[in-house]
Amino acid sequence: MTGTRIEINLDRIEHNARTLREQYAGRGIGITAVTKGVCGDPAIARAIVRGGIRSLGDSRLENLRRMRLAGVDAEFMLLRPPRPSRVAQVVALADISLNTELEVVRLLAAHARAAGRMHGVILMVEGGDLREGIMPRNLPEIVEQVATLKGVRLRGIGTNLVCLNGVVPTDEVMGAFSRLVDNLERDLDITLPVVSGGNSGNHNWVMSTERVGRVNHLRIGEAILLGHESTRRQRIEGLASDAFTVIGEVVEVKDKPSRPRGEQALNALGRRPEREDLGTIRRAIVALGEQDVALNALRPRINARIVGMCSDQLVLYDRGATLQVGDAVAFDVAYGTLMRAMTSPYMEKCYLRHGEAVAIAPVMAAAKV
Ligand SMILES: *Cc1c(COP(=O)(O)O)cnc(C)c1O
Repeated sequence: MTGTRIEINLDRIEHNARTLREQYAGRGIGITAVTKGVCGDPAIARAIVRGGIRSLGDSRLENLRRMRLAGVDAEFMLLRPPRPSRVAQVVALADISLNTELEVVRLLAAHARAAGRMHGVILMVEGGDLREGIMPRNLPEIVEQVATLKGVRLRGIGTNLVCLNGVVPTDEVMGAFSRLVDNLERDLDITLPVVSGGNSGNHNWVMSTERVGRVNHLRIGEAILLGHESTRRQRIEGLASDAFTVIGEVVEVKDKPSRPRGEQALNALGRRPEREDLGTIRRAIVALGEQDVALNALRPRINARIVGMCSDQLVLYDRGATLQVGDAVAFDVAYGTLMRAMTSPYMEKCYLRHGEAVAIAPVMAAAKV
């Protein structure tokens, strides 16, 4: 195990999955656990399945393939609207996909028929956040068309808030969504088994509302992985928020001024940072960078502050003045860092289960000398 790595506590992820599943089941809501924040990592997917969630969702076909090839035993859902050029893979890799374009659903249906499969379709409706979704007024005609297609089965209706514009799922917004579902069923004389109301941003609403209405399903990533809801990053009672730890190795420790000297242009990443004058401070350089972590989604667990970061060097103000070259600094991780660290070919992924560590070499392992 080298110094710089991301530690993944599989027991905590399993615990979070189990706890949320039980909390939501009490409100009549099933969960598809979302694995895109961890690149569909099979060890993490298995921990979630051990926690009792047997439906996994991801935005990327590569991640679905990764989990399937690893033999993860679950139902798979593609979250991002399918690429028309990849419908054959969608049918092969996903049991269900979330859709907004009739022409793409037609392609899916044709490929499913050719492959002798039945592909599940959930139609996404625009709920105010303005990312993917059919405008409500156009929904009835599309639902009618999809219902007649052979090769696909209309499994239900979904909506997605928070992700692009931070629009909050309130009783008002979610009530309108439920009414839309009621009206569709009544007007078209159909039943929609799955009513998928959103993501980790729906947590506070689910736990506090008097009426979940028609919502019986949520797609949950961040809350399971990081133990917080996603509108205000509030910790969820009973969940672990430290399943992931980024660890960086210290490569330089020196006392230096807190403000730069000389004429300043933009830095390596196009920023012009303002530096407070704190006199001489203890500065430590950690072997982590923008290629591995995200600056606004990382917090040292020691008494230190992040000064800044380039592609491969992170500068810390070591307030406690305790760090030495070769030390390992542990950081709390938010979603931006989680995603980047799991994607980075340089990051060693180190899995912990029952207190035992199993290190997996990074994709781009340095040659052993
Ligand atoms: C990413 C995503 C989710 C999960 O979001 P979290 O905030 O991680 O819970 C759910 N649905 C869709 C469509 C997504 O793209």
